[in-house]
Amino acid sequence: NCAPANDAINVLYQAVPELANHFSITCKIGEGAFSCVYLAQLKHYPEVKEMFALKHIIPTTHPSRIQNELNCLLKIGGCDNVIDIKLCLRHRDHVVFVMPIFLHDKFQDYLYSFGVDEAREYMKNLLIALRRVHQFNIIHRDIKPSNFLYNRQQKRYALVDFGLASGPMLIDRDADKLRKTLPTAGAPPSDSTIRVALSPSKFDPSCSRANVYKCKKPSTAVKNQLMKKKDHPSFDSSHICDCFGKAQVCSVCVARPNQVAARAGTAGFRSPEVLMKYTEQGTAVDIWSAGVIFLSILSARYPFFRAEDDIGYLAQIISVLGSEPCVQAASSIGKHLLLSEPVEAVDLKAMCTKLRMSQMSVKLGTSSQFQQIVKSWKAMSDEPYDLLSKMLDPNPHTRITAEDALNHPYFTNS
Ligand code: ADP
Ligand code: MG
Repeated sequence: NCAPANDAINVLYQAVPELANHFSITCKIGEGAFSCVYLAQLKHYPEVKEMFALKHIIPTTHPSRIQNELNCLLKIGGCDNVIDIKLCLRHRDHVVFVMPIFLHDKFQDYLYSFGVDEAREYMKNLLIALRRVHQFNIIHRDIKPSNFLYNRQQKRYALVDFGLASGPMLIDRDADKLRKTLPTAGAPPSDSTIRVALSPSKFDPSCSRANVYKCKKPSTAVKNQLMKKKDHPSFDSSHICDCFGKAQVCSVCVARPNQVAARAGTAGFRSPEVLMKYTEQGTAVDIWSAGVIFLSILSARYPFFRAEDDIGYLAQIISVLGSEPCVQAASSIGKHLLLSEPVEAVDLKAMCTKLRMSQMSVKLGTSSQFQQIVKSWKAMSDEPYDLLSKMLDPNPHTRITAEDALNHPYFTNS
């Protein structure tokens, strides 16, 4: 996966001149929204065969973010599947982290051919990394396959990318922002009531697109239904103002502050509490994201959720988990979830098995090796699905922790 990038490498040598004294950079091995990562070797020690990953952080990144990431890696890196850091070089506004190289496979390349034992090992190692991170009360905030590196041949794992992490010993810029903008008294924020239009479409295993659930834009009829205040189970008159159900926004609502809550992370992996702008987010947000990875593995669909905006993602989550637990979870974090219609939860095991079977036959063909994998997925017990539902608990207060998940029979009975 080594991409030649001579121009970029020369720019990097110029940006941080000290690099050229120590490293010869070979190629680009990865990139994300906030960095480019290069493969390098030590220059003056030919006996050192070890290779390094140089993460060049885009210079527009706020210094406190960079310091956060560095703090995290220094404090928790180097054990329990969390990547280590060896060195950090800075020249003016350019910062480079030097980490051990971790050669890895691409999620989309192994997703379809995952064996059942391999899937369990993968999830176990992800949870081991999360247990380590959460021991420090740090939220990673960007758990997704491209940040959890897996070397399939060596059965090794590495959690990377603490660029969005937040926690007690870190400079939490989101928290700062919140302190400045959160209302102290008065009317509830304008978005403590969340309206979601659900499309009644069921999952479609033959769907060629990666997303299985589609959320239609609410029709006028659905919008009207959402605005109807009576007959709704989660209707609470204390939060209704003059304009509720009307086409115009009243002065009371215009004056209401917007809720501001951390929403760093990647679309499709954000937990319900992040999507609903809950301000007291904790480490449970990472467990949710790990649960979404688990859902992708069990169903061989990646990405599993795909929508246009936060409410669209919420709608897809509700169509999988059912309205009842989501309305209750919302209420436990002080939100009112108004739905266009009630929906039943889907049977996770039936859905995932169906999706995985259809996907595997398309991607893997009919070889005997494939038949073996299909057989093992068909014979899958209920345990992974029990754990999955506990990781995808919409209520962050009852969602399973990494520690408890590692003691789940899915892992302990194997
Ligand atoms: P960003 O904050 O820009 O997402 P990441 O830390 O996630 O940066 O790194 C971007 C990509 O670079 C990763 O998805 C991965 O493919 C690759 N990468 C990061 N760290 C390493 C490493 N130590 N060894 C090998 N590849 C790495
Ligand atoms: Mg990343």
